[in-house]
Formats: sequence, C-alpha cells, structure tokens
Amino acid sequence: MKNKIQSIPDYKIANWWQLIDNHRVKCHLCPRFCKIPKGSHGFCFIRKNIDGKLYNTANGSVNGFANDPIEKKPLYHFYPGSTIYSFGTIGCNLGCKFCQNWHISMSVNQKYISKKYSAQDIVKSAQINNSIGIAYTYNEPIIFGEWVIDIADHAHNKGLKNVMVTNGYITPEARHDIFKNIDAVNVDLKSFSDQFYRKLTLSNLDPVLDTLRWLVNETNVWVEITALIIPEHNDDPYELRSLSKFIVDELDTCVPLHFSAFHPDFKMLDVLPTPIKTLKRACDIALDEGLKFVYIGNVFKDVGQDTICPSCGKIVIKRIGYRTHLIGMNENKCLYCDTTISGCFKNTIGQS
Ligand code: SF4
Repeated sequence: MKNKIQSIPDYKIANWWQLIDNHRVKCHLCPRFCKIPKGSHGFCFIRKNIDGKLYNTANGSVNGFANDPIEKKPLYHFYPGSTIYSFGTIGCNLGCKFCQNWHISMSVNQKYISKKYSAQDIVKSAQINNSIGIAYTYNEPIIFGEWVIDIADHAHNKGLKNVMVTNGYITPEARHDIFKNIDAVNVDLKSFSDQFYRKLTLSNLDPVLDTLRWLVNETNVWVEITALIIPEHNDDPYELRSLSKFIVDELDTCVPLHFSAFHPDFKMLDVLPTPIKTLKRACDIALDEGLKFVYIGNVFKDVGQDTICPSCGKIVIKRIGYRTHLIGMNENKCLYCDTTISGCFKNTIGQS
C-alpha cells in the first residue's frame, strides 16, 4: 500500500462540552456525560481536561492505515467490491467485555498513536490507493468526532465517500455534526436487551436505538447493522425476533442485517465460538420477520454472504471471502426480474 503522509503535531479543543464547576468539565458527546476534573480523562481516555478546557487528544492521530475491502466493515450494499482507506485511533466510550479490538479500544497508551497527520494528506493517500473514500473504524470513531468532521469535509470536497463503523452511542446534540458528511454507516447493535448492554458493555441500549431511528428515518446516510451473536448471552430466539421486529417496524425492511460470529476474546475467553447453526437460525428468524437482506459474518465458511433478490430469489451478488461478483445486477436492479436492490452501487454513483 502506498503512503506519502507527513507527520504534524496537533491537540484540538473539543466540541460538545461545558465548564461546570471548579475547573471540571462535562462532556456532551456521548450519553455517558462524563464529568472530568482538571488533568483527567473521560471514560474513553482520549478526551482530556487541560486547565478547565476539554481537548480531543487523538486529533490528527492514527493507529495504522489499511486499504480494506468495503465488505470488511461490513457494508454489503455500499459500492460492493470497492476498497476503502481505513483507520482508527485508540480508546472507546463503551466497555465491552467481548471486544475483539480491545488492544486499541482499551489502550491508554498514546504511543500507539504517536504519529500526527493532516486531514488533507489522509485524503490524498486514499486517492493514491484508489479507494472510494475513508472509513473511520477499528476503535469507536464517535470519540474522535472533531477529527472525523475535519477529514470527512476534505474527503467530500475531493469527491470521496465517508464511512463510519460505530456503536451508535452518541447524543442528539453531537450526531448532527459528526454525521453531516458521512455517507454510510455500520452500527453495532450488540443485543436487544438493556440488561446485556449494562452488564457486558457498561452502557445502555436506548441511545443506540435512538441513533438508529434517527439515521434511517431522518438522514440520507446508508445504514447497515451488525449483531454479534454470543452463545448463552444474546442468542435467545425471542430476543433475536424482537431485534428483527424493531428493524422492520421502526427502521426499514431493506436495512441489511449482519449476524456476526463471536470468537472468545478479552474478558470472555470462557465462552465458546458461535456455531454456524445458531447464525443460520438467527437469519431464518430475521427473514421470517420480513427483513430482505440478512447475512452471516466473521466465519471461515462462505455461508450466508450472497445478496439474494428478495423478489425472484436469485443470487445477484456472489461473495467468496472478500471477492465480490455482481453477477446478477443491472445498475441497481436485479438482472433477472428488474427489482430494485436497495443501496449504493458503482454504476449508480450519486444515489444514496
Ligand atoms: S465521549 Fe468520552 S469523555 Fe465524552 S462522555 Fe463519552 S466517554 Fe465521556
């Protein structure tokens, strides 16, 4: 991968906060609303109170670049077959005990993001690598929202797309600013139980549902959802039916849903990997509830990854690993029965 980026130092005063008392600040970026004493960090680590002002200390920082297949986000209906220039920083506003990127999301070590970059150079590097745009991913991009806004603005000016992979744990106050130039998002819906959210992610379900409603019903952002299925924790058929019903009733039957396999990691090493049959059962439930595009991910088999026309039942996009073949697509329609397949496709650039 080509990389011509130069380093520049930067710390940025944060948005979405207020001074409350005695040099303490209250952060309004996510529903945790941390009250941070002078010299301390918020829960997410990278937002720090320096002399009574809140700073985003990750601004300009990057914890590694990769020119990933868009399918890896996962986004299956957003320019399938493209690559997207991806990066993250460190820290997270959730505390998931099953985190599969815990070495960066839980890191409090700034050495992992010691280099500093400019938004212009990241955009230039995405262009050099023939990517369709920038993906803010790997750790939670909401927490470095000012940095996302800066890059996304430059990316749009150069005709590139912006993609976020997020937990959706953000306040209404901040989401309008951060999603302003975002074209597509994959939101992790980690469970449909508030108890699960509280116990295993140290957060709450409702703000995530609220973000999803807003994204789908009030913005033009293309939305896909990932639900990680953890045996014995969120694989109950009743819960999966409730999750699917929520998407059908309150979002849209065309929102793609990815059921992702859990692999033992971080603080949940004693839980077994998700069996394929559990993932297939989850797909059956979601399809039965009326969802049109349901997928299986994070498994070592090519199962549940093809896009099937919801009208004629033929495969329109075939996926083998990260190789994607639009075998039955005519622009954004099914080649066999002319049904529109929801999403954004290469030969229909501009649609969203
Ligand atoms: S973004 Fe970080 S500092 Fe702000 S409320 Fe959330 S966890 Fe706390």
